[in-house]
Amino acid sequence: MSSFFGQRNVYLLRKYLHPQRCIVTRRRLLSTNRDVVRVRFGPSPTGYLHLGGLRTAFFNYLFAKQHHGSFILRIEDTDQDRIVADSLQNIVDMLLWTGLVPDEGPHVGGQYGPYLQSQRTELYREMIDKLLATPVVYRCFCSEMRLNLLRKEQLKNRETVKYDNRCRHLTQKEIDEKLANGDKFTVRLKLKSGSVTFDDLVYGRRSFDLSMTESDPILMKSDGLPTYHFANVVDDHHMNITHVLRGAEWQVSTPKHLMLYEAFGWTPPVFAHLPLLLNKDNTKLSKRQNDIRIDYYRDHGYYPETLLNFLTTFSSGFTHRTTEDTVDRLDDLTKMFSIERVNTNHGKIETEKLKLLNRYSIYWYLNNGYENKLIDELKCLLKEKFGSTNELNLDENYLLFLISWSKERIFTLKDLLSEEFLYLWKVPDFSWNVNQVATAEECAKVLETVIYLLENLNENDCNAKYIYEIIRNEFNDKFVNVIKFKKFMKILRLSLTNIEAGSPIGETVVLLGRNRSIDYLKSAISYINTYRSGTSTASQGPNYSNNDTNISINNKI
Ligand code: GLU
Repeated sequence: MSSFFGQRNVYLLRKYLHPQRCIVTRRRLLSTNRDVVRVRFGPSPTGYLHLGGLRTAFFNYLFAKQHHGSFILRIEDTDQDRIVADSLQNIVDMLLWTGLVPDEGPHVGGQYGPYLQSQRTELYREMIDKLLATPVVYRCFCSEMRLNLLRKEQLKNRETVKYDNRCRHLTQKEIDEKLANGDKFTVRLKLKSGSVTFDDLVYGRRSFDLSMTESDPILMKSDGLPTYHFANVVDDHHMNITHVLRGAEWQVSTPKHLMLYEAFGWTPPVFAHLPLLLNKDNTKLSKRQNDIRIDYYRDHGYYPETLLNFLTTFSSGFTHRTTEDTVDRLDDLTKMFSIERVNTNHGKIETEKLKLLNRYSIYWYLNNGYENKLIDELKCLLKEKFGSTNELNLDENYLLFLISWSKERIFTLKDLLSEEFLYLWKVPDFSWNVNQVATAEECAKVLETVIYLLENLNENDCNAKYIYEIIRNEFNDKFVNVIKFKKFMKILRLSLTNIEAGSPIGETVVLLGRNRSIDYLKSAISYINTYRSGTSTASQGPNYSNNDTNISINNKI
């Protein structure tokens, strides 16, 4: 490093990068000469809101609330061809669902509206006319055909593909002739040569010389609609935006924006670019990835807190977590947030982390008096899955008991309705291969014995340990020379749950309740009988007797 920068520059660089100094610099940047902080989230409605977009919205929200400022939603819909139907509605709905309620926006209005750029075209025309009266922009009359030919030529010569800025050099006479001719034109910004430097709240001092790599950007298209750069700057100014927090992919556009502020004589906002949020394999997020959409997470049983805690913990190095196995509420996150602690490490979407945080959200609801919310949610899920819930036990104490029992086994309440836990709700549709476990006679004998034990079990003795003990004793008395204990238990487990591995038998009986366990075991005997009578291909045994589904939940495991 020293040979490249020279000794003195290394010293200056270190001095500048000194952590304390950085914080001081950032503090100074935080304050603008405008009193009230106003930030905006400016999505294009070209796809549904995903985790990357939510991160930008969320950090803007946190920043605004922390400074008692306003969080504005502005829809950047100037590229009408790329608009995805419903995406505007989806963006608003998902912001409201996560609790990031905009203070101003297309759905609520506000004194700086309209908040859809497509409804602000008058303003953009007025502003472009102002610039056309200065030498910072020019009309470009190059046709699509010329631009295509130029592109092909550059590709052939292995040159950087960019517009050659030809119309910069038109004489006034040529311009007047073309205008008189009715020739179509775009308006381009003359990129200044040399570096443009700015202080980024997250990345520190940044410098870019765009004229080396880019051609003069278009501000207004020939159809009279603005491009992103122009509309964005005009709106940020007219909406009194004080701080721009946006994804790092926009950092390279900032010099263009600063040139526009300078051309208009406006004070630019303070910029903070947020490190990228990437897929686990380091690829960029795409609006076509349905499994990172916010509504996807919602529909799969994730809670807003899960997503928000994920974003503050894993998407920028800003770690707020106080204790490992809980999540923080939006209000707390607002107090803990600090733009000064957002670092430049890219975040990654890791499903395992999201799942774990969702489990912690369930803990939080259980521990903070929101049991009814979970119960209601579970009831809805059951109705959705089974249609009629007449046969199901929807006793609220029972549902809560199941949620508490399962909280270390599930990540979402939906998991409670997965194959693994179906037995909790209905007599299993048995599908195990009886012959692979034991003979049909052995299986039936085991089941009959345990049914007898349970029928004679006192309600007060219905606890997991005791049930296990009486089953074990019965095995020692009657089966020890017939089959192995492991096999004996496997027959019981398959009969109660239809799955090979799962909770211990005593616990399963308590979960189901004594009567329901007996019903299940009887149904399993019917299923086994199909093997005895040689009709064993059926994967579904007839139910034995299933009228009495009362269960006992008073007994602890
Ligand atoms: N419309 C841009 C986007 O969709 C907003 C960029 C900005 O915030 O300046 O990301």
